[in-house]
Amino acid sequence: MDGYEIVLTADETLLAEYRNIPLGPFLSCIPSDPILSRAVHHLISPKSHANEEFLSLAPLGLRKFESALARDLRKDKVAVVSPKFIKKFIGEKTKVVGIHSMDPIGLGPVSTMFTMGGKYTPYTKYMTEKLLMQLPEDRNFKVVIGGPGSWQFEYKTEVAKQWGIDHIVIGECDRKAGEVMEQIIDGASTVIKIRDCPPAEEIPPNLGATMFSMAEVMRGCGRGCKFCQPNLRKARYIPHEIVRKDIEKKC
Ligand code: SF4
Repeated sequence: MDGYEIVLTADETLLAEYRNIPLGPFLSCIPSDPILSRAVHHLISPKSHANEEFLSLAPLGLRKFESALARDLRKDKVAVVSPKFIKKFIGEKTKVVGIHSMDPIGLGPVSTMFTMGGKYTPYTKYMTEKLLMQLPEDRNFKVVIGGPGSWQFEYKTEVAKQWGIDHIVIGECDRKAGEVMEQIIDGASTVIKIRDCPPAEEIPPNLGATMFSMAEVMRGCGRGCKFCQPNLRKARYIPHEIVRKDIEKKC
């Protein structure tokens, strides 16, 4: 099979509905090791979009990256697929497998709390490792991690190496998605930091529906709390028309 040139996915915890319980997705941070915890996770996440080959709903950040890539390259070169079926979409044409991440090694505050400081393995980490370990070892494509959790691999580069990650992308790619892909294909450094702050008008609208119907209405924050990550980014407000179109996207 030829496959797609660029295959995008996310770990299974980012595709589960968690019964639409408010804050339910935080249960992706509970340990995957004890039987009781496994039973709770099984009960609380019966419906997963990972059971669809092409994702009808995808995490918001993955949709943004998909849109930027489709604009810079061609839409038919990019597939947003389930981690369970990813091998079906990888073929001779595949140059990059891109993985959107939120808390891939379990270093976020909720995972750290639920796992007693890392004594156990949170589902976020378990599912990310499961996804990466199923990729063929003998391969002609690059494995790239992005999204708000990619910093964890810069902090733990030994885990990135162990799990077969070639590149770690950190930053806002909305204006540079195609450029970043070219760099990766041509052999960029392991950690790629994008120092860009696209104006709201240049953040592309989504091409498909998002998990939990999330729509981006603003990026960054101007309030100035010193401990906060969004505060590191300039505040921008997405134009109403784009927000409306994103909300209307149906799966
Ligand atoms: S905690 Fe962060 S996002 Fe919240 S108001 Fe402060 S700077 Fe903004």
